[in-house]
Amino acid sequence: QPLMELSGLSKTYGNVRALDDVSARVYPGEVLGIVGESGSGKSTLLRMMNLEESPDAGRYRLDLPELPEDLFTLDRFERRMLRARRIGIVYQNPHLGLLMKHSSSGNVAERLLVAGERRFAVLREKAQVALEASEFPIPRMDAPPIELSGGMQQRVQLAKAIALEPAVLLLDEPTTGLDVSVQALVLDTLKRLQQERRITMVLVSHDLGVIRTMADRVMVMRHGRVVEEGLADQVFQDP
Ligand code: ADP
Ligand code: ADP
Repeated sequence: QPLMELSGLSKTYGNVRALDDVSARVYPGEVLGIVGESGSGKSTLLRMMNLEESPDAGRYRLDLPELPEDLFTLDRFERRMLRARRIGIVYQNPHLGLLMKHSSSGNVAERLLVAGERRFAVLREKAQVALEASEFPIPRMDAPPIELSGGMQQRVQLAKAIALEPAVLLLDEPTTGLDVSVQALVLDTLKRLQQERRITMVLVSHDLGVIRTMADRVMVMRHGRVVEEGLADQVFQDP
């Protein structure tokens, strides 16, 4: 039984067909890697998984209690609540995921506030736990992201994304743009989190190396379509 199931998604921007009848399934505990060249539709698909965007056609089901058969029928408020409580996301651009001038700990605590936690000491403690799990240096937790390196900013995004133990963690090019040595460290953290907590992940990258390191199953996209799909070992065996 898939945890996440999207079917028949299409989306056109002007005369660009960003998604053309795309379907995807994600099973509990797995890492689905989505690869493809720039412009192939990967980010658009991820934004739909995060309910940030609606398709022109298609359906979206999450196998969680008390949700409708098609999440695109939810209104803006319901989508925001679902996103806040059940979906974590890490963007390539930290400006999309973080308030760059607020403290890092505050950025993580904001997620918990949305979910109803109001006790200051608990917010701070939980934010610290999530930052520690993301291997963020705790003595820096009150520094604003704008003063931190790119690798540390991604760790703050990650801490924010996992603070509420989301049903699914979405990662959009989480290491692109970082120094290669830092990329490896962030990937190690993701891998450790995945192994320890069995977090279901969807990882978008144009970097085959990243997908090969992380993904159990791979979907290859081209011009808004899924052109190949399978277990990582099989997909990477092809010539
Ligand atoms: P990828 O993540 O694989 O690079 P995207 O999903 O970002 O691809 O983009 C797919 C196509 O849709 C591209 O041609 C892109 O320019 C277009 N596109 C994506 N989002 C928008 C948008 N909000 N407005 C207009 N065009 C968009
Ligand atoms: P709106 O619905 O008004 O666009 P949201 O409340 O959904 O705004 O998002 C508030 C902030 O949280 C934004 O900075 C956004 O980038 C970020 N965000 C969106 N989705 C998620 C998510 N699943 N997990 C963490 N942060 C998110």
